[in-house]
This record gives sequence, C-alpha cells and structure tokens, in this order.
Amino acid sequence: MARELRGHSVKNLMNRILPLGQTCNRYLRRYGKSQPNIEMCCPLCGRTMHKHGCYYRTAAMRGRAIKIPIYRWYCPSCKKTLSLLPDFLIPWARYTTVMREIAVRRKMEGKSFAQIADLISSKAVAVSRCTVKRWYKRHLRQVEKVSLWLCKKLIQAGTEQDLLRQYTPGVNPTPQDTIYWFQKLLALYAPAHSFLRGYWQWLNKKLPIDNLL
Ligand SMILES: [Zn+2]
Repeated sequence: MARELRGHSVKNLMNRILPLGQTCNRYLRRYGKSQPNIEMCCPLCGRTMHKHGCYYRTAAMRGRAIKIPIYRWYCPSCKKTLSLLPDFLIPWARYTTVMREIAVRRKMEGKSFAQIADLISSKAVAVSRCTVKRWYKRHLRQVEKVSLWLCKKLIQAGTEQDLLRQYTPGVNPTPQDTIYWFQKLLALYAPAHSFLRGYWQWLNKKLPIDNLL
C-alpha cells in the first residue's frame, strides 16, 4: 500500500510542476541540455536534495510529439527521487495540458468524441476517440475536488459571493453541471487577462498534486 502524507500518495508528492517555459520549444531552449539551477527541498523530510540527472519522456501536442528531458533531484535520507515537470505537462499524461483542455472544451460545446479526435489529430500525432473520452472522464472525476479547492481559495480571499448558489443543476443534475460550476468559479478566481495556453496549465501550478487537471 502506498505511503501517505497528509492525504497525498508519496508517488504523487515526488513530482513538482513549475513554469519552466510555457511551450516545449522554450523549455528545450532553456533546459534541453542543462538542469535548471533550482534548489529543491524534499517534500517528505524538508532536506536539500541533490541534482540527479534526467529521464526522457514524450510530450505530444497538435502536430508533433517530441522527447524532452525531465530533470530529477534525489534525497539521500529518504532515498527518493523527485521529478520536476514543466507546467505544460502533468506526470501521467503524454499529451500537453492545453491539448486536453481544448478537447474537454469542445466536448462541452456539444462535439462528439470522434469529431474532437478528428479536430485535434494531425499527420504526426493521431488522437483516438477513446483517448478523448478518457480525458473527458478524468476531467469529470477531478472537477469536483478542484471546484471545492477553488471555493476554499475564493473564501480565503474574502469573496462575498454565495459560491454554492453558483451551482445551478437542471431538473436532472448531470456531471456536466459540475463542470459549469467549475467554469464559473474559475472565472471568479482567475485574473481577467487572456490565457493563451489555457487555464489548466496556469491552474496546475497552484493545485495540490492529487488534484491536477
Ligand atoms: Zn527526504
């Protein structure tokens, strides 16, 4: 059984997401060959970690899939390795966050999984209908806890709004109603300027690691 620390699994805790370049190209220009010069503290014991090389993983986006280095740090006391991800990826997704967000947005606009797969596929990177469906189902699973996290943040920031009243299910409540609620909360929480890379990439830097979108 995975060890737990304040409700987070250790496996998840050993990932950090930081803004290391908004796009793959920028990330590769800065860190394609050298490890970011960042001091990392162990999430388990708080000690300073040592740089510990990298592994390569695929980042798939519309039009291409490329290998990028993911740098690691090591804690000699806990004997655990931490991976540092650029903010356009989450640990367990091969596709960039903005691509998954666009797919879910299209679904909410009423497109079918097959139509969305067609829209976002390219010659180099084909996305199947099943993959789009998996992204959407994952979003439905995550969106409730992220919405509650947003409520907490808004309340801490002193909002006067009745946040539960923003949740307006129809006669037959559906899981999509929670996504609409999430979108309303996000509009209250996110700064008003436009998000070229989508909201999820911005939000994932702030969310607890188990809540990533
Ligand atoms: Zn440690």
